[in-house]
Amino acid sequence: MQIHVTYQNLWVVAILHKKNIHFKSKRSGPASGIVLVIDTINKLNTSQQHIKEQAPVHLRSFSHAQLIISRPSHLHCSLQNGNRKLKNIFHFPPVLFLSLRHGARCKECDYLVIGGGSGGLASARRASGWYGAKTIAIESKRLGGTCVNVGCVPKKITWNAAAIAETIHQAKAYGFSVTQTAPFDWTSFKNKRDAYITRLNGIYEKNLGNDKVEYIHGRAHLTGKSEVEVVLDDGTKQTIKAKKILLATGGHPTIPQNIPGSEYGVTSDGFFEIERQPKKVALVGAGYIAVEFAGVFNALGTETHLFIRHDKFLRTFDPMVQDAIVKEYERVGIHIHKNSSQSKVEKDPKTGKLTIHYKDATGEGKLEDVDDLIWAIGRTPEVEDLGLEKAGVKQSKIGQIIADEYQNTNVENIYSLGDVVGKIELTPVAIAAGRKLSDRLFGPEKFKDSKLDYDNVPSVVFAHPEVGSIGITEPQAVEKYGKDNIKVYNTSFTAMYYAMMEPEDKGPTRYKLICEGPNEKVVGLHILGLGSAEMLQGFGVAIKMGATKADFDSCVAIHPTSAEELVTLK
Ligand SMILES: Cc1cc2nc3c(=O)[nH]c(=O)nc-3n(C[C@H](O)[C@H](O)[C@H](O)COP(=O)(O)OP(=O)(O)OC[C@H]3O[C@@H](n4cnc5c(N)ncnc54)[C@H](O)[C@@H]3O)c2cc1C
Repeated sequence: MQIHVTYQNLWVVAILHKKNIHFKSKRSGPASGIVLVIDTINKLNTSQQHIKEQAPVHLRSFSHAQLIISRPSHLHCSLQNGNRKLKNIFHFPPVLFLSLRHGARCKECDYLVIGGGSGGLASARRASGWYGAKTIAIESKRLGGTCVNVGCVPKKITWNAAAIAETIHQAKAYGFSVTQTAPFDWTSFKNKRDAYITRLNGIYEKNLGNDKVEYIHGRAHLTGKSEVEVVLDDGTKQTIKAKKILLATGGHPTIPQNIPGSEYGVTSDGFFEIERQPKKVALVGAGYIAVEFAGVFNALGTETHLFIRHDKFLRTFDPMVQDAIVKEYERVGIHIHKNSSQSKVEKDPKTGKLTIHYKDATGEGKLEDVDDLIWAIGRTPEVEDLGLEKAGVKQSKIGQIIADEYQNTNVENIYSLGDVVGKIELTPVAIAAGRKLSDRLFGPEKFKDSKLDYDNVPSVVFAHPEVGSIGITEPQAVEKYGKDNIKVYNTSFTAMYYAMMEPEDKGPTRYKLICEGPNEKVVGLHILGLGSAEMLQGFGVAIKMGATKADFDSCVAIHPTSAEELVTLK
């Protein structure tokens, strides 16, 4: 008997009675078991049913598979996912299911989500898992999107490493004798971090399966108001008709176009690819990503240069935060090139080192021997090949998709949210907007007006030290309420953690509360210092509930903490 099947987008489920098939290892000798080959259309129904009945299970998704059944007990299996090619010959007694639906190249669904990032996944899972909408999610890169792969998650892990480096340095002041016997092992740290992210990718895929969302790996574009074409990994095309479509395609980092040699630099995506700790690094940008990376490099011992266009960074934050962080970064030895611009980047072909030609507040200069240059100058919405024009979806001047407060675009049944809309570019915002939208579209009547409240969203910068902010800044409060109608409380102190340290090792703590009207409703809270990120969440709840200064004061302080200063402000 010889059955020869070539098929795209298969899920191959191998269920063995004794051992899992390990696709990479060559097996010799017979193994008893069942191999199920289930196409993407059938996979949810068939595979999940069988998984429940039989264990252990090895389940993987492949973009391409070739199966040759040469004899009743031999299955030659060649599997491919992207560049990953796996070949194997399985020997097994003849219990074999091949469930393939050929030629099924047009699918239909209730809800089609383009973009498997924070917002898209949250919305897809809610629609399918909670409300049973037939949902398909399409992702062209790695599941989890920016946050999981090249954003919040690997960034925070790296920040943790930097915080540990600081603690090791500070431990001496508390009587510990800590000697580092080797420098920070960036390479093995990076490998471990990558492995963690890969694990997360798998968990995200599993979660989609648990919520019965069909996942397709490929690049999607609109071909009409209710139709999408997906270019699959092997180049073939899949058409999907959907009753409702969500565009949650996020954004990508911007690279400057007009600076010769700018291509020698990387973006925030490239930061996570750096294999060895740079001795000298240059970052360009004044937003939170540049500031966070600069803080991390410096804490880990890299000579760090930060180029900013003006004389402050974090310029959307309260002036108190801007001043304090700039001062602190200068104090800890980060080279801040203020009022700067770059005219050229050169690369030494032998050493690979970069020279950056620049102008800053002190005049023209060049920074030599730079190992890595990171552009963190902003992000561009990911819409270039999305086919927005085919459906008539409107964009802003800078390319963002225009969506209203309910995440409706101008085209009926097409919705958008998250970074591609760009209202507040944070993961929890995209997630919350995605869930609310699915509640509204597929949930019970009580959710018919469900939408995310974009006011008072707390946000944090994992700088050194951390910054937390919710509500409006002091200049915004003055503009909105008038100077005479606001009251601002400030405090600045040294956290007790630093009590045992020399003056040069003591970091700043600054808090500001902005209150409005005779009741002193808190409309802005800005904090900077150790533990600010964790502190902010609880204060965020209070502010979201409309807390006043008196409410803050009525809460008994927790002593000794830094946070207690916020409920005892005078
Ligand atoms: C360095 C860095 C650090 C960050 N740190 C934080 C943080 O600490 N806290 C925080 O809250 N936020 C942080 N963010 C922001 C956060 O990552 C984003 O706000 C969030 O990921 C936005 O989610 P999203 O779903 O809108 O888009 P994304 O997560 O970007 O997901 C969009 C997905 O769509 C896919 N896609 C795009 N076009 C197509 C297409 N045509 N077909 C198929 N798939 C497509 C993309 O591959 C991507 O996976 C950080 C971002 C960066 C860059």
